[in-house]
Amino acid sequence: SSGGLLAYAESQDISPPSAEIHEKDGVKKRVLVLGTGWGGTSFLKDLDISSYDVQVVSPRNYFAFTPLLPSVTCGTVEARSIVEPVRNIIKKRNGEIKFYEAECLKIDPANNKVLCRSTVDNLVGNTEFSLEYDYLVIAVGAQVNTFNTPGVLENCHFLKEVEDAQRIRRTVIDCFEKAVLPGLSEEERRINLHFVIVGGGPTGVEFAAELHDFIQEDLVKLYPMVKDLVKITVIQSGDHILNMFDERISAFAEQKFSRDGIQVQTGCRVVSVSDKEIAMKLKSTGEVCSVPHGLVIWSTGVGTRPVVREFMDQIGQANRRVLATNEWLRVKGCENAYALGDCATIEQRKIMEDIATIFKAADKDNSGILTLEEFQGVIDDILVRYPQVELYLKSHHLKDVSDLWKDPKGMDRNEVDIEGFKLALSHVDSQMKSLPATAQVAAQQGSYLSKCFNRRHQCENNPEGPRRFRGTGRHQFLPFRYKHFGQFAPLGGEQAAAELPGDWVSIGHSSQWLWYSVYASKQVSWRTRVLVVSDWARRFVFGRDSSR
Ligand code: FAD
Ligand code: MG
Ligand code: MG
Ligand code: MG
Ligand code: MG
Repeated sequence: SSGGLLAYAESQDISPPSAEIHEKDGVKKRVLVLGTGWGGTSFLKDLDISSYDVQVVSPRNYFAFTPLLPSVTCGTVEARSIVEPVRNIIKKRNGEIKFYEAECLKIDPANNKVLCRSTVDNLVGNTEFSLEYDYLVIAVGAQVNTFNTPGVLENCHFLKEVEDAQRIRRTVIDCFEKAVLPGLSEEERRINLHFVIVGGGPTGVEFAAELHDFIQEDLVKLYPMVKDLVKITVIQSGDHILNMFDERISAFAEQKFSRDGIQVQTGCRVVSVSDKEIAMKLKSTGEVCSVPHGLVIWSTGVGTRPVVREFMDQIGQANRRVLATNEWLRVKGCENAYALGDCATIEQRKIMEDIATIFKAADKDNSGILTLEEFQGVIDDILVRYPQVELYLKSHHLKDVSDLWKDPKGMDRNEVDIEGFKLALSHVDSQMKSLPATAQVAAQQGSYLSKCFNRRHQCENNPEGPRRFRGTGRHQFLPFRYKHFGQFAPLGGEQAAAELPGDWVSIGHSSQWLWYSVYASKQVSWRTRVLVVSDWARRFVFGRDSSR
């Protein structure tokens, strides 16, 4: 077998969790989970709690199905339908998980402790407490990123939490009520009905589409007097909206928005926001202009939460932007902490950093020359350890790793020395990508990490296990590998764009139906599934509710 590469990984202190986990005197190890969003919940769902003492801290005692939050802003789906109480999720487990409704204020890695403050309303007395752990799982998500733009915190709405969505819904209706009050000039009515969305990513675009439908399908009938005064503007700093999607999708979205009368302002950066106006700078000319608004939704990018920031300072990650973990989701600089989802990023190893080690591991006969056969012996390891190789092969239309083995002139070679080997792999690292901040990534990481935790016993009995590969029948901890199942962009008017694996793009009404079925099936419980589907049915029959 060719376990050399992962063995190397272990010596580099990026070993999987099994290595040093031992039950002390039959006492269960304490696992503390921070956060009950996509990452935290999927970790808890699959964790074998018979072997751990599990505690969970989160300021909200429910899991929220975030992909449907934009639908809540316009009452297409009710807020109650997309949340599932954490206690419902964890009571199904045989064994006990302790849940505390609290916010983690500070992580103290030196003493394996966290400081928390209860978020239960109207609590009297001391609301702070601390908890100890053996293993910490950080899944606190991210916060909105204002890029320190003045006035954003005070004057913009965000769309992150269920409360935000409910607040947006009330404010939209308020804008209409304000606009129809007597004694206003037409200009004042227009201002109240100018809805501005900052950020042309999936959330901003979906919200714009949702708002447009709400207004056109429901509100114009109820507020006929102002129906021609409504305006929706999407401000995007890049050249296109939905620029993380296939070009065909972003072009379609732009055309659809232009037909719908949604104004898309690209190449534009917001410089400040007041309660009445939003100021932006055109990137091309440097010119700054201000427009009056009735409501601004801020939906650009994610930032690190203060509690994570401070933790990073303590563990030697002060210079980083995002908390870094290795490929096994272990926090760099903190042995017994793991982090997943939006609060962390996996620092992928570069193949060029390890090139000499790979060469040595592959060169079985220590001849200093690598034959094609010797190289083929480590290909599987390389593919597992360095996901960028697969991306590189794909982007260069190569069928097999051994195709890398051709020299630049396209000549096949049978053997290389270290320099030739470096040359063959020299461009592979250009394909390294960080994973997107999505529910899909967080959920896969959560279930991956729970599998690592669940297998520690087996691995203790079989200490060689973690270094073995697929097909050897032993227990193993392969690094986390993300599998992309595609991505949707609902565009309003019962149309959606879908980007599916294998460069498959589908746009239109059928994709919207696919969207309905995927999102119904992804619900965490039958209860929320029934609620969401009946909300959709209700909307089809009666329209949305427009009382605030
Ligand atoms: P979260 O799900 O945000 O969970 C964080 C958890 O930590 C929460 O329970 C929070 O209450 C808790 N917490 C916060 N601070 C603390 C603290 N100090 N102490 C303890 N707990 C704390 N992704 C997709 O893949 N598809 C989509 O269609 C999609 N649509 C989206 C639409 C919207 C409007 C938004 C906002 C996001 C959307 N996403 C989507 C992204 C997706 O929601 C996130 O990537 C995902 O939630 C990340 O999971 P997480 O567990 O890292 O964080
Ligand atoms: Mg979470
Ligand atoms: Mg969530
Ligand atoms: Mg992440
Ligand atoms: Mg050799």
